[in-house]
Amino acid sequence: RKRILVVGGVAGGMSFAARARRLDNNADIIVFEKGDEVSYANCGLPYFVSGEIENQSSLLVQTPASLKAALDLDVRTGHLVTGIDTERRIVRVFESLDATEPTEFEYDELVLSPGMFSGIADYPGVTEVRSRLSTLRTVPDAIQLESIAQSASSAVVLGGGYIGVEAAEALRSRGLEVHLVQRSAHVLTHFETELASYITTELEANGVVIHANAQPTGFSERDGQLVVALSNDGEIVTDHAVIALGGVPATQIAPESIAKTDRGLIIVDENGRTSAPNVWAVGDAVTHVDPITGALRSVALAGPANRDGRYIADAMLSTSFRPRPAALGTSIVRVFGLAAGATGANSRELIAAGIPFETLHLHANSHAGYFPGSEAIHLVAYFATDGDERGRIYGAQAVGRDGIDKRIDVIATAIRGGMTIDQLADLDLSYAPPFGSAKDAVQMVGFVAQNVLDGTTTLWQARDLEKVMAESLILDVRRADEFATGHLPGALNVPHTELRERLDEVIAAANGRPVRAHCAAGIRSYLAHRVLVAAGLDSATLSGGMQTLIAYH
Ligand code: FAD
Repeated sequence: RKRILVVGGVAGGMSFAARARRLDNNADIIVFEKGDEVSYANCGLPYFVSGEIENQSSLLVQTPASLKAALDLDVRTGHLVTGIDTERRIVRVFESLDATEPTEFEYDELVLSPGMFSGIADYPGVTEVRSRLSTLRTVPDAIQLESIAQSASSAVVLGGGYIGVEAAEALRSRGLEVHLVQRSAHVLTHFETELASYITTELEANGVVIHANAQPTGFSERDGQLVVALSNDGEIVTDHAVIALGGVPATQIAPESIAKTDRGLIIVDENGRTSAPNVWAVGDAVTHVDPITGALRSVALAGPANRDGRYIADAMLSTSFRPRPAALGTSIVRVFGLAAGATGANSRELIAAGIPFETLHLHANSHAGYFPGSEAIHLVAYFATDGDERGRIYGAQAVGRDGIDKRIDVIATAIRGGMTIDQLADLDLSYAPPFGSAKDAVQMVGFVAQNVLDGTTTLWQARDLEKVMAESLILDVRRADEFATGHLPGALNVPHTELRERLDEVIAAANGRPVRAHCAAGIRSYLAHRVLVAAGLDSATLSGGMQTLIAYH
């Protein structure tokens, strides 16, 4: 009877254990979980705080008893693993809170899925105000925060990643005054600036006060309230703080024989094996190779953790197994009425990897514009224009009120399938006016990119505005009344419908300089671009038009 030990009884660990049992009916499978719950819905915690999930029990997908009954798993909660000896193949476990000595358990195979914890850094004053600080990682965290939300009138969330934004949304929807402190210029830093601005606007419209480019530097109490000092010399006086400053891999238990990165992520191969024999690892605490850039990184998402747990069981116990696929990091988050989704690499990651790419922006309709209820989908996509990878899709991000999940998931599927821009354009997607458009946003990514690749379109980018203004004639092809509401300094306004008749005016104003056209969203200036090119001018059209430009700057 093989003895398999598992550390961590939630996403990766429990997915592994359940699959392992289905593959080996005899193995002795013991899962150690330091908390009181296993197999709980971490992703649902913010929605318990908001009150949308009303019952605690809904968060508990399984219990030790149900896992024993259904799968004969030996799940031990309240068991803290404190050490691993890979030579002797034992783990040391504190079997209860008051245990003074750890018990040793031998293993034939060991699976580590300890996840991350939210570090509360050693800021001045932390100890004194500890009761006013929460994290949002576990069921007890969520229960505590939900109860605080009932009595507090204000809170600050420190950290504007997914968990921070979800916590801010939840607390605000409970009626608290909410501040959100973010180290960089905008929340959800994975998103491009021009998309993040929609998220910022949505948060602010719903009453969240954002403190960008700021970090906490210390905590104190004044007049019965918590005071959070910020790096920008400001302070926030509030009732409570939620710490969501980024996860720390819970891998301190792993000895040197289990290789880790400087950040503490356990290094695993494509099957989830660590550097120590018979020790495997999965989930937030392990390395993933980015399939686009090749970078070694963490992917703190539930899908990859659950899938990889299953694949590790296959690699350990089955003769037919596949390598765990490199995670694209496809993700989505709700921010009040908006959804923000992303898949693959973003521009920062592509630049860091030295990968040349083109960016395109779309403001498409979630469904046919003439059918009631259509919403804008603001989408950014990246693709290769040169070399062997020409036409490869590198990634996409989208923000909007409807249909974001569908578009991001289709593009994620296309990237996973190794599809090219042409194949994206060729997709046969479902369509009727309440659901989409005959030319869906996803296909539009394909069409626009095809235009770039075959030279029908040349794009210029909002991020290059300064340089473009210094070197080119800016041609604003919107209607005169739109131009009058605000325009770029020095821009010449020739509506696209008048361009053919007024070409001489444009040529004279350009005076040998390139012409850089733009409109509101990019469609009219594309038409203008074709006219300008036919007239022999050096022309380009602004990717995403004024909408993207304003969102970027
Ligand atoms: P976990 O699921 O965190 O499990 C690790 C377990 O190991 C913990 O229960 C911990 O107590 C236990 N443990 C750690 N060390 C020890 C030890 N020494 N001894 C015993 N037990 C130990 N992902 C998404 O894809 N979509 C979402 O919407 C989403 N929302 C989220 C919202 C919140 C609030 C949080 C916290 C996470 C969210 N995630 C989301 C991320 C997702 O939950 C994680 O990626 C996933 O749970 C990781 O699985 P894991 O097995 O690595 O770690």
